[in-house]
Order: sequence, then structure tokens, then C-alpha cells
Amino acid sequence: MSAKSYINDVLKHIKKVSSRQPIFYQAAEEVLTNLAPLLDREPKYEKHSVLERIVMPEKTTMFRTVYINDAGKACVHFGYRVEFNSSIGPYKGGLRFHPTVNLDVLKFLGFEQIFKNSLTGLNMGGAKGGANFDPKGKSDGEIMRFCQSFMNELSKLIGDVKDIPAGDIGVGGREIGYLYGQYKKLTSRFDGALTGKGLSWGGSLARTEATGYGSVYFADEMIKKVGGSLEGKRCSISGAGNVAIYTAQKLYHLGALPVTVSDSTGFIYDKDGIDVELLKDIKEVKRLGLSEYAKVKKGSIFKSVNEYANGRNEVWSIPCDAAFPSATQNELNLADIETLYANGCRLVCEGANMPTTPEAMAFIQGKKDFLYGPAKAANAGGVATSGLEMSQNASMTSWSFEEVDTKLHNIMRHIFNTAYETSKEFGDEGNLVLGANIAGFRKVADAMIDQGYV
Ligand code: NDP
Repeated sequence: MSAKSYINDVLKHIKKVSSRQPIFYQAAEEVLTNLAPLLDREPKYEKHSVLERIVMPEKTTMFRTVYINDAGKACVHFGYRVEFNSSIGPYKGGLRFHPTVNLDVLKFLGFEQIFKNSLTGLNMGGAKGGANFDPKGKSDGEIMRFCQSFMNELSKLIGDVKDIPAGDIGVGGREIGYLYGQYKKLTSRFDGALTGKGLSWGGSLARTEATGYGSVYFADEMIKKVGGSLEGKRCSISGAGNVAIYTAQKLYHLGALPVTVSDSTGFIYDKDGIDVELLKDIKEVKRLGLSEYAKVKKGSIFKSVNEYANGRNEVWSIPCDAAFPSATQNELNLADIETLYANGCRLVCEGANMPTTPEAMAFIQGKKDFLYGPAKAANAGGVATSGLEMSQNASMTSWSFEEVDTKLHNIMRHIFNTAYETSKEFGDEGNLVLGANIAGFRKVADAMIDQGYV
């Protein structure tokens, strides 16, 4: 069978058995279609049914999570852990607490995580978990009780050489603290079963900054490859959470100017450059909406989502040279990318997971003068530094910020070079979507073949 027919058959099967999982299908379609040149060259992957196996999680656990809110009412949520692939290492991937979390979203994130973790060059398998719980507006007590209840089940699955969750949307340092406290209580173990821990109890310096910094390091590699520089570039960022904040900070380090950030309430345009310390105070410390930023920073403009036209993500209407989508999936559509392009933007670097819709991605790939850093390569700095946290925990050492940051920078360079060289090997030089998918897949698929049918 030709590679194309094999891929189409597997995609058809996914559509049939997972008809209510369009986001997972979108992720699978992107990966599988990009594998055609590899599968054409190497029939062993079809012979060993690797595609059929790799699109199915090794184990999916779904559990009830109940906590008592401050009014004394029992609140019930779905909890999940999707352990997708452990061929090259223990399961590794974050936890998302957001009302939109369901099995579809977590399968998409877990699937992407397999290839992202493989690209880092570290030995980590792919997983993802979370709950349809919204931490927004909840008291610390409510968050703690929710995390403890969630961990009552999750603790049966995880461990430092087994499955190591981390944060994602809605799960930051506070939540990891409560989760880890309960893990310790239940297991009597102080090990590296979670990453993103506090610095005084096993966390790694630079983990907080890692995804945002890594995304900018990746963009820097892309632009340098074509003889350009980030210096002086006006950059648009979406999101105002962990990834967005440290993307803005690193852009300043490299001489660029971040001019927007956004959250679920709207976006900020600050033509003089986003004030990162003010942003941190509003989003990390006070946990408020972005309208607060415009109240403090003279000359900045806040536009509320209620004023957005046609459901568009209007942060992308601000003219810029480079865009860093860093909020959530499918937040940059065809109309957005057309607007960005018309306004002079020539680089998209994905901090969020799958932020660009397939139509917008096709538009970018149709332009010869557009640089595109796909999420599984560009935002791998977070999980890579989680891998470094695991190394420090295992050897009971802690490295300096500079040491971790240098390792992170080297890993991002390695990922860029791997994706670039692979794109060249398969005759489409500079197509980092193709390069990242093939390179990430090949390592995992070969390990699956080596380890037999399990
Ligand atoms: P945070 O929870 O810290 O921040 C998310 C930000 O995006 C918030 O500003 C949030 O708004 C906004 N946002 C989330 N969902 C929506 C939505 N549906 N509509 C509008 N705005 C939204 O998450 P992170 O920064 O950690 O994660 C952002 C993205 O990066 C995600 O796709 C995540 O999977 C990805 N990622 C994160 C990594 C990490 O290390 N943290 C690693 C690799 C990828 P509000 O503040 O109003 O809630």
C-alpha cells in the first residue's frame, strides 16, 4: 500500500472510532500527513502497524473529583490522565484545569506531547491530564481542596520513573504545590513525581521562564537562518499567562519590542512596549483581568472581547513583524493570518499548543517569505526544562539559573537544527512542520518496533 493510502486509512479509522474528538483528529491529521515521505521510504512502519498503535493512548484514566466549596457544597468534576506513549521514557506532560477540558482536548495535547518530548532529545514519553475545573474566582482553600481530591486518584498513576505531570493552563506554582503536598501525604515519598515545583522543595531555576524563553530562542534561530535578527522587531503576543509573560521578557533581552498581550477578557496594545513587571503583578500576583493594565499604564489601550467583531481574535489586528500565539488551541485563524500578513508580519512562533488552525497553517506554508515555528518544536523548552528538573532531583543537585538557561538554549538550538536538517533530508528545506513531525515520530516509532507489540 502507498504511504498516502496507509495514512488515509488510519485517519478514516480515527474519524470513525473518535467521531466526537475533532481537536484530536486535527492534531493526528497534521502529524500523519506530514509523515508521508518517511513512510514512502521506510515500509517497516506500516509492516509493524505503527500508525494504528501510535494514535491510541496506552492507557486513559477518567475519574470523579469532588471537593467542598466555601459555601459548603460538594462540587463534582471530571478528572483525566491520558498516558499516551512510553516508548522512549516515562510518561511526561502537563495538567490543564479549564472548563473546556475534555477527553478530546487531552488526547490532542497528549498526542502532541509524544513528538515534542522526543524532539528535546531527552528520554520522556508523552501524556496529558487535567480536569474541567475553573480555578478562576476560586479561593485558595477551594483550589487546595480540589487539588487534594484530584491527587487522591492521580497518585495511583504517577511516580518519578513512571509518570511525571507538570503544569499547563490553570495549573501554575500554587496548584503544583497543593498537588505535591497531597502526593507526599498519600505515598510517603519525596521524589520528582511532579515538575514545576517550588525552588525550596525540588524545583528548578528557570523552569517558570522556560517555555517563553525557549519559544523566543527558537524564533531567533529561525530568523538567523535567513540572515535576519529579532532586534528592533515589533512583536504581538496572545495570552497573558506563563508562556506569554516570559516570551515578552525574553523578547526584550534580544532587543525586540512586545506590544500586545491578551487574556479571556480582551487584549492590551501598548505601543511603547508591554511593561512585564506590571503584567506579572496583575496576572501572577493579583490574578486580575487585563483591563487593570490600561488603568495603570498611560498610553496603553485595552479592548474587551465584548467589542470584538465576528468572533475574531482581534489581538492579531495590531500590525507587527512577528506573532507569538501563546494562549490556547485554534486561536489564530485564516482571517487572522491574512490580516497579520497584510500588515507586514513574516514570522509566527507558536508558544501555545496548536494555536493555528489548519487553514491558517496552509496559508503560511503557501508563502515563501514566512517563517513558521510549529508548537511541538517551538514550545518544547518547558518540558525540556522539566526534564532538567527531573535530572536535578534524581542526582539531588540544583543548578544555577545560568546553567539551566544555557542548557535550555542549547536544547532549543538542537530542536531547530534537527527539524531543519530533517526537512532538508526529505526534500522540503525549511519546512519545519514536516521536519519536526518526521524527526519526533521516527525516534518513537523505532523504539516501538524495537520493543515489540505491547
Ligand atoms: P496560563 O494558564 O498561565 O495562561 C493562559 C493564558 O491564555 C491566560 O492569559 C488565559 O486568559 C489565556 N487563555 C486561555 N484559554 C483561553 C481562551 N479559550 N480564550 C482566550 N484566552 C485564553 O497557561 P500557559 O501560559 O501555561 O499556557 C498557554 C499555552 O501554552 C497553552 O496552549 C499551553 O498548552 C501551552 N504550553 C504551556 C507550557 C508551559 O510550560 N506552561 C509548555 C508548552 C505549551 P485568562 O488569564 O483570562 O485565563
